[in-house]
Amino acid sequence: LTSFDAVPLAPADPLFGLLAASKADTFDKKVDLVIGAYRDDNAKPWILSAVKKADAILANDPNLNHEYLPIAGLAAFTSAAARLILGKDSPAIQESRVTSVQTISGTGAVHLGALFLAKFYPRPRNQEVYLSSPTWANHHQIFSNVGLPLASYPYFSAETKGLDFEGLQAALESAANGSIILFHACAHNPTGVDPTRDQWVRIAEIIRKKHHFPFFDCAYQGFASGDLANDAWAVRYFIEQGFELCVAQSFAKNLGLYGQRVGCFHFVSPPAPSAADANKRIASQLAILQRSEISNPPAYGARIASIVLNDEKLFAEWEDNLREMSGRIKDTRRVLFDRLGELGTPGNWSHIVKQIGMFSFTGLTEKQVLRLREESHIYLTKNGRISMAGLNSRNVEYFATAVDKVVR
Ligand code: PLP
Repeated sequence: LTSFDAVPLAPADPLFGLLAASKADTFDKKVDLVIGAYRDDNAKPWILSAVKKADAILANDPNLNHEYLPIAGLAAFTSAAARLILGKDSPAIQESRVTSVQTISGTGAVHLGALFLAKFYPRPRNQEVYLSSPTWANHHQIFSNVGLPLASYPYFSAETKGLDFEGLQAALESAANGSIILFHACAHNPTGVDPTRDQWVRIAEIIRKKHHFPFFDCAYQGFASGDLANDAWAVRYFIEQGFELCVAQSFAKNLGLYGQRVGCFHFVSPPAPSAADANKRIASQLAILQRSEISNPPAYGARIASIVLNDEKLFAEWEDNLREMSGRIKDTRRVLFDRLGELGTPGNWSHIVKQIGMFSFTGLTEKQVLRLREESHIYLTKNGRISMAGLNSRNVEYFATAVDKVVR
């Protein structure tokens, strides 16, 4: 008998379990559409050319060592990261209203934000954290792990395979005043459906009226549309509107630095004479939380990101890399859509080309997903989400034919 006999066996992470099953499958036409990581047209991981060059600069730097970074991370990286998401002319930056802390990629940034809110956000009526339905599965665990109560707002309409904007508005209207609302800044995971600019404007009106606190999770800036400013529009609009908010920023996808865990958490205070002072206090508390959790963030990936973000030429090359990745995905959406059309596959598939970013929410049912796996060695999550990056000119035809078969 041990002291831990009552510890229940947790289920395996469904995503990484599926990934293992796919890895173990040796069928030559296997298609892996599980994980949100970019693949080139040969279905291989891709190191961005801008990142390769930054790597070479680091490798030849005689002054490089392995000392600790400061608690808040590499300042050259965090300040460039803030300019990237907020815009270099952002009033929030000019007025010193931004606190930035380097984190363990986007996951760590969401977690640090959640931890900070759990400790310091005033919730006299025990307001909840509202997550979109559906959302990135990890959001549920991250916020409940820090003891914040969860609620959800409608997001995806199964009928239109687009945004359930009526449902979203109604939920934000009826949430208790001062609720925390989590938004995906762009390229919503898992649906690939984003609000339009007009819809964001309306959302901001409700947030203001209800005194809600907006928390933006930004994991795909530049990766979604190929344009960094376009993908940051919602965040920048909210800041223009004078909101107090926070942003969790990941460089996993847009720099292809997945395993290096490069991310940043930004807290933006609203415009007020006391904002710089508020920021100082918030920064001091974030530093204490960071110290107890990870002490110092990892250096290598942040140095790579810092070189790319701060060098004009490499930055321009990175923008080319972003256009290449997002362009290939957009082209593949079109090919898939056209192919399903040619096959006369039952149903309306226009959402394939309307959705944006890494994922498409296909509308395939769990039964159809299982059949795809069993009959065709095609792997996707049972909610019907496919990572578009897993499709390419060689396998899209095979995929379309297999989909056609299971929906008939
Ligand atoms: N948030 C969303 C919505 C995501 O899709 C992801 C990655 O899939 C992340 C955050 C964080 O990823 P990472 O911790 O690898 O940066």
